[in-house]
Amino acid sequence: MSATLIDGKAFAATVRGQVADHVARLKADHDLTPGLAVVLVGEDPASQVYVRSKGKMTVEVGMKSVEHRLEAETSEADLLALIQSLNADETIHGILVQLPLPGHLNEDLLINSIDPAKDVDGFHISNVGLLGTGQKSMVPCTPLGCLMMLRDHHGSLSGMDAVVLGRSNIVGKPMAQLLLGDSCTVTIAHSRTKDLPKVVRRADIVVAAVGRPQMVPGDWIKPGTTVIDVGINRIDAGDGKTRLVGDCDFDTCSTVAGAITPVPGGVGPMTIACLLANTLTACCRANGLAEPEGLTA
Ligand code: NDP
Repeated sequence: MSATLIDGKAFAATVRGQVADHVARLKADHDLTPGLAVVLVGEDPASQVYVRSKGKMTVEVGMKSVEHRLEAETSEADLLALIQSLNADETIHGILVQLPLPGHLNEDLLINSIDPAKDVDGFHISNVGLLGTGQKSMVPCTPLGCLMMLRDHHGSLSGMDAVVLGRSNIVGKPMAQLLLGDSCTVTIAHSRTKDLPKVVRRADIVVAAVGRPQMVPGDWIKPGTTVIDVGINRIDAGDGKTRLVGDCDFDTCSTVAGAITPVPGGVGPMTIACLLANTLTACCRANGLAEPEGLTA
């Protein structure tokens, strides 16, 4: 391996430390405690793990953590009522409705019922519009984490050629907006893109968010490129067990790239760290206080 390893686990610990320091100052100077409410509907095992981990880390940085675990059959009206009560609760600065929701619930309707100022996932249509027009918004956590790692590694991203693989609303599109905001020349590639290897080969930065295990081989990567691998895919490890891999083939990409994030231990830990950063930002904004430096887009 010749690439520099971008250690998302260590970087996320640093970000959480910065959040914790700021939270302690908010308490000491303003008697304020940021609060995050997470709403989980149903029994999805992966969602349960995420929610547990979010709650634990929220408490570790000194914030208030509230969890609402609702039955899979919960009605839309009941969920809307809960979101309205959290919108009105002054001790709650961030609201996260864990996705995916059971099929009978209208995700768009519910996400858009969250107060945009408390929408720490950045999925509310107002925040999508604000990000798209370069205005102050709540930024989706995964792309924000990728941006922080890129800024930390490169300093300025201005003028770099960035290729984002994937055009989802939660990763690909906001990632492209953020890179554009940092003056990259951005290409968004997807399943209909012609000659994907050629498109990827011109990139100085590749952000892969496709959900296909090890899809990007090293010979698609220009020497020296920075590879941010968002993918989380579980594959057969061959010994009756499974293991996690990204969307990029780490072994071959890491011999060509200038820098690369591992899976696991890259983008994943940054996502929760950015959720905490967003909750802190939301609390500061709600109280007319200066936002934490370096923790927003
Ligand atoms: P989606 O399934 O919503 O989107 C995948 C995107 O990849 C689509 O735009 C799709 O194109 C594109 N795509 C699929 N196949 C190909 C292909 N063969 N060639 C080119 N493009 C292709 O996924 P998400 O954005 O939600 O997630 C992507 C990955 O990131 C997943 O592995 C997910 O688990 C992971 N993830 C990780 C997070 C973290 O914290 N680290 C957080 C969120 C996601 P099209 O639109 O044309 O169908």
